[in-house]
Amino acid sequence: MQEELRKLPSVDRLLQEETVWALVEAHGHELTVEAARQALESARRAILEGSPCPSVSQLAATTVANLNRCLQPTLRPVINATGVIIHTNLGRAPLSEETQAAMAKAAGGYSNLEYDLEAGKRGSRYVHAEEILCRLTGAEAALVVNNNAGAVLLMLTALAQGRKVIISRSQLIEIGGGFRIPDVMRQSGAHLIEVGTTNRTHRWDYEEAIDEETALLMRAHHSNFRIVGFTHEVSLDELVELGRKYNLPVIDDLGSGTLLDTADYGLAHEPTIQESIAAGASLVSCSGDKLLGGPQAGIILGQEELVVQLRRHPLTRALRVDKTTLAGLQATLLHYLEGKAPQKVPVWQMIALPVEAIEERARTWASLLAEAGAEVSVVDGRSTVGGGSLPGETLPTRLVAIQVASPDELARRLRLGRPAVVGRIEGDRFLLDPRTVMPEQEETLVERVRLALR
Ligand SMILES: *Cc1c(COP(=O)(O)O)cnc(C)c1O
Repeated sequence: MQEELRKLPSVDRLLQEETVWALVEAHGHELTVEAARQALESARRAILEGSPCPSVSQLAATTVANLNRCLQPTLRPVINATGVIIHTNLGRAPLSEETQAAMAKAAGGYSNLEYDLEAGKRGSRYVHAEEILCRLTGAEAALVVNNNAGAVLLMLTALAQGRKVIISRSQLIEIGGGFRIPDVMRQSGAHLIEVGTTNRTHRWDYEEAIDEETALLMRAHHSNFRIVGFTHEVSLDELVELGRKYNLPVIDDLGSGTLLDTADYGLAHEPTIQESIAAGASLVSCSGDKLLGGPQAGIILGQEELVVQLRRHPLTRALRVDKTTLAGLQATLLHYLEGKAPQKVPVWQMIALPVEAIEERARTWASLLAEAGAEVSVVDGRSTVGGGSLPGETLPTRLVAIQVASPDELARRLRLGRPAVVGRIEGDRFLLDPRTVMPEQEETLVERVRLALR
């Protein structure tokens, strides 16, 4: 063992290897030395466990691999073959070409982000998406922050800190990633007054709870679950009426928030932003990257007076939205304004994809994979919209089903490849849903599956 350890070359010797020296020239001395040290250290450990000393060229190869790994960004592209359109773990909404271009343009240069070009003095970043948002929704005013969780926190903090917010027990939701309405409420310093029962809440439940400490009435979209059976909830119209009677603002956390009617696409009706505004909600909040199909953002819409209050609140500064987001959001919203969202916004393109088109793609993939010797078939399946919208609702799709001895192993290989491919496992089959795969990714996907099946 000692003898093997003595055979280990020095870092300097390793640096003389041609492949390692090339690293020094490309990435600098420091990073390369670090990678070489790691290679020597892992060899030392292997020797102590009884392995022989690797050759210098083996150590050089490990050094190259170490450095490459350290230069790889941890955030990597993934081909989403899960059929979940708004997949939070996979980065939610993919963006339209125009949106990507607008974001790249804003990122690469200066802009009038907070500069009033007309007046030649300081302006506000919040004017940028406001006009278009108001036009699309009929709201008086709008404010864009970092995400919807931030939007809810801001509304509660600015309008109800130290006072009461009344909400139905059926709406004390938890969405993924640790966002729970009661926790956000606590964080904001507002007092949560839960009324009704899990399955039934009535107008009089709210009315009985209202007192002089009440600041807001709140509604939250269920997002990711459905209550069925003996249930009742108070409609937004009724809440607004109650709010008017007692002079209390009504805030509506729509969660996903959509500008298009999902019912036009064979899905259940998801309340639209316009409907909430028209119903008279004082403030409505939603995400930018769920059904809206834009960049991550929290959008607040509603009464001017309240939006002004939010804009002035110090928390707004902490939830400040970035220039690339504002540029991207505007570009996405423009698709809606021009009536082209179903054609331009990837989330809606995927929702609108006819099953015949999906079947054709599935058949093409299946035949390419069959040629490569895989045991594949095209089967009926369901895609889901995801993103805390339309729980339990699915879209018919066609899946490529790959029969393998170990679907887990196939899934693992596909996840670890470049680019990563994520699909679904059902029983002894690995499933790929073409609905969420971009057309330009198809060739790569088939190639990756072919390699992983070897
Ligand atoms: C998704 C969701 C949120 C959080 O939105 P983010 O944009 O992810 O921060 C808040 N409330 C509801 C009801 C949601 O569905």
